[in-house]
Amino acid sequence: MIVSACLVGVNCKYNGGNNDNAKVKEFLKDKPYVIICPEQLGGLTTPRKPSEIDKIDGKEVLSENSKVISCEYKDVTENFIKGAKESLKIAKMFNCKQALLKEGSPSCGCNLIYDGTFTGNKISGMGVTAALFKENNIEVFSEKEL
Ligand code: SF4
Repeated sequence: MIVSACLVGVNCKYNGGNNDNAKVKEFLKDKPYVIICPEQLGGLTTPRKPSEIDKIDGKEVLSENSKVISCEYKDVTENFIKGAKESLKIAKMFNCKQALLKEGSPSCGCNLIYDGTFTGNKISGMGVTAALFKENNIEVFSEKEL
């Protein structure tokens, strides 16, 4: 199993904090797992400016017509793609068939993401890493589904 690092208390979140989740830890307690933070693996700093996927284009995943932007309108698409690829490399290295990922994140979101307006509005969609995992037959689910 591959797991978003912030869910088990690693301070890799954009604001330098984490999303420590007791339910996740309970679920993982007897299972082997590997932690990843795709945004750090993509070369972004911690802390960093929050980012959102701009223009979901009806596909609910990052497409060639969409990009990932920071709240200061910096294009960070390449970082997100690199982070997703590095995460996939690790998932394959450890033969992970499932990924437990943080809901709502532009990298890790499995069902929901912010809508690109930085207004807190969520829409149906997947983060860049979650989508790449799914494409590669890794089952993705979020902490909300436990
Ligand atoms: Fe957590 Fe994923 Fe965001 Fe990293 S990229 S802080 S693992 S939600």
